[in-house]
Amino acid sequence: MSRDRLTAAVAKIAHASNPVSFSGAGLSAESGIATFREGSDEDALWSRFDPQQLASQEGFLAAPETVIDWYNWRRKTLAGAKPNDAHVSLAKQPGWTHITQNVDNLLEQALEITGIDSSPVLHLHGTLLKDHCNAECGYEELIDLHQAPPLRQCNCGGYMRPSVVWFGESLPAQIIQSAVAQAEKTDLMLVVGTSAQVYPAAGLIEIAVSNGAEVIVVNTECHGRTGARVTELVGEAGKLLPELFADSC
Ligand SMILES: [Zn+2]
Repeated sequence: MSRDRLTAAVAKIAHASNPVSFSGAGLSAESGIATFREGSDEDALWSRFDPQQLASQEGFLAAPETVIDWYNWRRKTLAGAKPNDAHVSLAKQPGWTHITQNVDNLLEQALEITGIDSSPVLHLHGTLLKDHCNAECGYEELIDLHQAPPLRQCNCGGYMRPSVVWFGESLPAQIIQSAVAQAEKTDLMLVVGTSAQVYPAAGLIEIAVSNGAEVIVVNTECHGRTGARVTELVGEAGKLLPELFADSC
């Protein structure tokens, strides 16, 4: 990666007045959480299951207990994870809005550590820290990751389920509206650890670009995104983000 590109990206960040981060699994990868599509090769039991089948309404209706047990295993993994240098670098920046595809709370943890917990975090794909009623009566509950409850029913008779977006489900309308509004008004979008190839999330980058924003992409793989206002940096988020923010901390 050219040093010039990094320098240019640092300058873009320094001049931004309404910056937004847009993150995916790569942001949390260095915190020891298996990225969703990789699953966990270490776990002999769960590696036999297909995440795409478990994380769906069909999978839940067919085997609700298995799906909840799988999520509770993921919650246990998350309970032991800590924010990495990339989360902390982002969290140290005042005035940022964070849009994430991640269902963990590592960015929130980092914001709490750095004391800048007023920055909003928009979870496009929901969160593992909450359950809601699958019968859509509107009831929801916060979950203790260390003691996630087994399969249980809501008072209305429906099953409780994790408040994450499953395959085939729409993104939460209010969250996507807020994210689109941010993408429209931002002057700098920092994209971290996502190939952003799935719509509608992928459209956020296009919205930002078409509204004149500068875009910086940090990922371990090259996206091949081109354009006068797009700067691509290839490498680990935990290394690159501290460098990007070196001058502003
Ligand atoms: Zn209910």
